[in-house]
Amino acid sequence: MSEKVYAFRCTTCGTVSYPKHVICPKCRGETFEPMEIAGEGAVLTYTDVYALAVDYETRYLRLAIVELDGGLRVTGQLLDEDPKVGGRVRTTVGVVREPAGGPIHGLQFVPV
Ligand SMILES: [Zn+2]
Repeated sequence: MSEKVYAFRCTTCGTVSYPKHVICPKCRGETFEPMEIAGEGAVLTYTDVYALAVDYETRYLRLAIVELDGGLRVTGQLLDEDPKVGGRVRTTVGVVREPAGGPIHGLQFVPV
């Protein structure tokens, strides 16, 4: 799969943001460079969301906040039937939603 998800690194101070900020929260810089989100991390917390838009094919969406090994915290879909806080996962990119306009890819986590 060639789809990728990017965080953005401030070119002034190096702070990484995901999702992207218009202005760096640390130094107020306004220029960023993309940085692919990939690798492994640990689940900080997760939740199942049942109130979904009508074009979702699933009954609920399991979302997690994962702290990657570099320290960046990212939100994505957790693909784990038996999730655990602190569990090790790796990032992947997959279809998270399929509205009429075509599939939308997003960040997902799978156990390692
Ligand atoms: Zn900055």
